[in-house]
This record gives sequence, C-alpha cells and structure tokens, in this order.
Amino acid sequence: MNSPDKDSPLIFVVEDEADIARLICATLGEYGFRSESFATGRSLLARVRRQAPELAILDLGLPDMDGLQVLRELQELHPCAALILTGRDGLTDRVLGLELGADDYLVKPFEPRELVARVRSILRRYQRAASAEPARHTGARFAGWTFDIGRLSLLHDDGRELSLSAAEAALLQTLLRRPNKILTREQLIGERDLDPFDRSIDVRISRLRRKLEDEPQDPKIIKTVYGAGYLLCATVEWLGPGGA
Ligand code: CA
Repeated sequence: MNSPDKDSPLIFVVEDEADIARLICATLGEYGFRSESFATGRSLLARVRRQAPELAILDLGLPDMDGLQVLRELQELHPCAALILTGRDGLTDRVLGLELGADDYLVKPFEPRELVARVRSILRRYQRAASAEPARHTGARFAGWTFDIGRLSLLHDDGRELSLSAAEAALLQTLLRRPNKILTREQLIGERDLDPFDRSIDVRISRLRRKLEDEPQDPKIIKTVYGAGYLLCATVEWLGPGGA
C-alpha cells in the first residue's frame, strides 16, 4: 500500500450515499489512488468540464439524474474509463451501461478489495492500449476508415464521421495492432482469467460493428471466429504526425 501523490491516477466517484462514498474514497486512497466524490450527477459533470479523471465510478441511482445518463454525458464531455457501481443487478442496466461505454460493472454490496482489483484492471487495460502505440502514430487507416487516436474519431472515405468511447477506441487499437489474426476474448480484454460469462467484450464488439460495418449482422471487418474469438479482416496502415 502507498499513499496517493500528484501523479497517482485520479478517480471521480459519484455516489449519493455518503457512507459508501467515504468507504470508496478511503479504500482508493489506501491503495494509492487520488479520488474526489460527488453526491449528484450534475456536480460530477460540472467538475469534469474543468478537469478530467482517468476513471469514473458511477452509482446508477442518483437523486438528480439517472447514472446511465451521467455516463452518456460524461463520455461526450471527456471519454474516460468508467466503472458502474450499483445496487441494481438487472441485466438490462448492465448491458446498457457497457453499451454506453462503461468498462465494468460491480453490484452492491461489494468488497472494497474487489473494487480496487476492478479499478486496477481497467486502468491497466487503458495504459496498455496507450503505451502499445508508438508516439509517432497519430492514427490508422483500414477498410476505408481513418481512425484518429487523439480525437477518438473515425472518418470514412465517403465523409461519414463518428466518435468512439474510450473503451471502444482501446478495443479497436488492440484489433488494429494485430490484423488478420484471431484474438481471443481474453487477449482483447487484456485479462488472463476472464470470467467465461463476462460478455462485456462481445457487447463492445457489436457496438464497434454497428459503427464500422455496412451490415453489422453480416460483418466484413470484425469477424467472429466461433469458439476462438474475433479477427480484424483488413490491411492496416499506421499514420504518423500530419498523416503518412
Ligand atoms: Ca444511490
């Protein structure tokens, strides 16, 4: 255990139950993370306009707005890692949260150490995605798309432009790094011992497909290899500063 310093990852916690908020922040602090807590969605979003966190922990049941709406607005303001923490365990909320770009989901009551393990795993995933690209790469071209890493955007040759959540961009980078190779769900999510029932990667893949593919039901770019994983079927050209 170490105490947080100014370079520790910054985590914003939105939780209206003061005891739980205190417990989360105390636990994060014990494990070396900096944290700030907010009792309402609005106060979190106001803060994010001034400073962006590395990760946000979001309670779904908030007094002023739905946590999923907070997540949606947060991803528009500043795509960052997000962990949903909630008393609800409904599948719809879980899937919807992942669809909206959340990286993971923890149901209350939770073990503080479990929370820290999830937080670490999410942050590791992002750091790997960020460090895997040499700094000279600003983007990549594949299958008629240009992916801008810094702006988390995709521009198609036909003029279509769309934005990705941080989670989708991290997944796309992992796929682009190893085109035309089968990647297992574990390799894509960056975890060795993935819960076989964890469908978060599949949710994120289908979301990426809806953005990239002409016919998401008959994908040509991100293919499913049954029983094995996924494969990005494209020639990838990495772009340097100012374009290649
Ligand atoms: Ca609540």
